[in-house]
Amino acid sequence: MNGLAEQLTRQREAGLYRRRRVVSSPQQTEMVVDGRPMLTFCSNDYLGLANHPEVITALQQAANAYGVGSGAAHLINGHSSAHHALEEELAEFTNRPRALLYSTGYMANIGVVSALLGRHDWLLEDRLNHASLVDAGALSPARVKRYQHSDPESLGRQLESCGAGRKLIATDGVFSMDGDLAPLDEFHGIAQNHEAWLMVDDAHGLGVLGESGGGSLAHFGLGIDQVPILMGTLGKGFGTFGAFVAGSEELIEILIQKSRSYVYTTAMPSAVAEATRVSLRIAQQESWRRERLAQLVSRFRQAAEEMGLPLMPSNTPIQPLLTGSAEQALQWSKFLEDKGILVSAIRPPTVPEGQARLRITFSANHTERQLDRLLDALQILSLEQK
Ligand SMILES: *Cc1c(COP(=O)(O)O)cnc(C)c1O
Repeated sequence: MNGLAEQLTRQREAGLYRRRRVVSSPQQTEMVVDGRPMLTFCSNDYLGLANHPEVITALQQAANAYGVGSGAAHLINGHSSAHHALEEELAEFTNRPRALLYSTGYMANIGVVSALLGRHDWLLEDRLNHASLVDAGALSPARVKRYQHSDPESLGRQLESCGAGRKLIATDGVFSMDGDLAPLDEFHGIAQNHEAWLMVDDAHGLGVLGESGGGSLAHFGLGIDQVPILMGTLGKGFGTFGAFVAGSEELIEILIQKSRSYVYTTAMPSAVAEATRVSLRIAQQESWRRERLAQLVSRFRQAAEEMGLPLMPSNTPIQPLLTGSAEQALQWSKFLEDKGILVSAIRPPTVPEGQARLRITFSANHTERQLDRLLDALQILSLEQK
């Protein structure tokens, strides 16, 4: 195919070439990656539930009861009692009348925007929103405006410049590559003043923030009146797979009628839903997992600050080190990899040009000794910098 080889060469020369590593162990802090044992700091399995024995048992037992494939979309005959029970539990967890399962978070974001907005409407997005929200805008006939990152004034200005039509503000709750929180305490008032709907994608907040894992909204003490549309994923803090949207009876019914990425896709396996019911319960009950994360983050930040490492303003388990150039991010990541520590280098277009970084993430299962190993390696990098 003409031109593809040249395109790949350019990608390589720009330090932007991506390759996959092959994992042959469960998702946990010590893994086998490309055949080598590695200590990992790059998973989104923040609570350490992806390989939890009770969650595994629930999946196995449900596979015996339901089989593997769900066989059809939810609106045909793929909607099982396991899906239904999980939806009810997610609604209760988020303190909302209803919740609706999607097969992935990417599809949930696309599905909400496509169901709610038409070509006379407006979608307002943070500049640093996750790619799935950006793509939801690109695929939508609605007009899209992007405001400065977490900037209430910029959001207000953009809202004022909208004409008639529905207005939907969509933001990450915790920004996936930065780890900082959207100022939802300020945004909900702005949304109300402009009669706009506020939607929060809390992929990295749910399970992790708030006393019982209620996420960014729990952190700010906000409910359905302030944030009518809440999207959450199940493949990160909850350690399984899939996603959901929670909100009013009417919101969920509209999504069932009109959300194309809900209607035209196969339902997630019922066994995954059953496993998630267990991980949801553990996530809520075992607060020690959140406390543990907070301890790790606090110790990491203190040590990194003393070393003069380029920390970013985050108090969540996402702790990026801003290197700037893609080359340096790769160099640091390679240095750590040679020491048996896996931390991913995040490069454009995942982050803006000139803002490449190492994205370090913590799990409740990381030990003090494992953190020491990371800090010792970073110490060498920080000395080389000087
Ligand atoms: C991971 C992520 C998604 C996508 O969720 P998947 O279930 O992995 O498709 C959406 N939004 C944000 C902020 C994410 O980090």
